[in-house]
Amino acid sequence: MADSILVTGGAGFIGSHIVEQLLADGKTVFIVDDLSTGRLDNLAAVREHPDLHLIVDSITNWPMMNDTVEQVDQVIHLAAAVGVRKIIDEPVETITTNVRGTEIVLDCCHSYGTPLYAASTSEIYGKAGVALHEEHDRIMGSTSHRRWAYACTKVLDEFLALAYHHSKGLPVVIGRFFNTVGPRQAGTWGMVLPTFVTQALNGEPITVYGTGEQMRSFCHVNDSIRAVLGLMETDEAIGQVYNIGNEHEITMMELAEKVKEKAGSKSEIVLVSYEEAYGEGFEDMERRQPDTTKIRGLLGWETEYTMDDIIDDVIGYYRPVLAG
Ligand code: UDP
Repeated sequence: MADSILVTGGAGFIGSHIVEQLLADGKTVFIVDDLSTGRLDNLAAVREHPDLHLIVDSITNWPMMNDTVEQVDQVIHLAAAVGVRKIIDEPVETITTNVRGTEIVLDCCHSYGTPLYAASTSEIYGKAGVALHEEHDRIMGSTSHRRWAYACTKVLDEFLALAYHHSKGLPVVIGRFFNTVGPRQAGTWGMVLPTFVTQALNGEPITVYGTGEQMRSFCHVNDSIRAVLGLMETDEAIGQVYNIGNEHEITMMELAEKVKEKAGSKSEIVLVSYEEAYGEGFEDMERRQPDTTKIRGLLGWETEYTMDDIIDDVIGYYRPVLAG
């Protein structure tokens, strides 16, 4: 059982929820976050906690990472450049942070034999579709479509993490998050739910991209972090890859309509072409639905939040933020 844990990306959306839970569980928590997409506001509830140590720096600072990893029993590695918008606008930073950063984290963990959770993403399945179990083939688009750079960086992270496990014995667990959503997620980098909720509450047009028939499966962050923490306490998870997501699907048009209704909004719902939204040559996947048999079998984990709960929670979070 770990007493002190480093959470890279701990000021981010998912990271800050994990940090709060770990502190509540009595752990000492170190955070390394360069605040590129993370925000200090996300840590408002725990900033003064005596067992929290915040280091504002990049995971690519190798000596600092080495010193920090030396002080902990476990690492939860979440720091990454994420969000479709960011990947398209800042491809160099995305590739560098995700590849070099993870390499450094793995190397430091290897130096001290520190167990590690490495965050991956459903994006690695590419255009593969439905009932995506962990061994499912990946279908990537051409390199001319910048979106796929993110998936490729994360695939490389997975290969490297598994290689450290198989060749050097590093205890590593990989989790692939599927469209994780909830309070504190920002719409800045393109994420659909905070974008729709903000638009609905501001009375602005709700921008549904493409036909709106494309589907996603949304998982509440509280369900996701229970999965991560459960995996880190389970020896059988070591060396394995797990999907972390909600199997329920919804179209983006249905999502827009539900958000509008629940927010009591008069916003109109408008269709925006992918070209207008992301520029030329953008590719989206029609569906991306997890098969979570593996993690349910291991942990008895089930999602607790329905789509309605999730939307209510995100609206409840944004209402005072936007009003203030
Ligand atoms: N999307 C949308 N309107 C927006 C932002 C996103 O219709 O303002 C769509 C996007 O094209 C995709 C889905 O919502 O089909 C989910 O997008 P997001 O960027 O949240 O995550 P993705 O699953 O694409 O990684």
